[in-house]
Amino acid sequence: MNEDNCIFCKIISKSETASILHEDEEIIIIKDKFPVAEHHILVIPKNHIPNARHLTQNHVNLIEKMNETGLNKMKELNADVQDLASGFNWPPLNTVNHLHQHFISPASSMSLFRKLIFTHKNFYFVNASYLLRRLKK
Ligand SMILES: [Zn+2]
Ligand SMILES: [Zn+2]
Repeated sequence: MNEDNCIFCKIISKSETASILHEDEEIIIIKDKFPVAEHHILVIPKNHIPNARHLTQNHVNLIEKMNETGLNKMKELNADVQDLASGFNWPPLNTVNHLHQHFISPASSMSLFRKLIFTHKNFYFVNASYLLRRLKK
């Protein structure tokens, strides 16, 4: 999949509609189309980065910003951030080929199956601190 038929690029260019909760020059935050808990948002960089494997040290600031802005948005939505699942899909288990960070709360309300998918104990879902440690090496 390239940028031309990327759903997130279309949302960013406004040729596809989505529920946009935040937008600035680098990122947007949208509601997940298929929420797995009461609060489920996606933080998406405007640049088309296919997945977490394509990140380099140059992306450290971006990841930190995504994590911080997403967390603040969850607090603004009155989501319980003590009961939070947050992270990035790791290939090959990424459904959209445009980097995005999930924020899900309350994480404890997810079905067992969802919990298996959205947990950092799962190798295919990595949280921001793991990613940052990896990039800063
Ligand atoms: Zn894209
Ligand atoms: Zn995802």
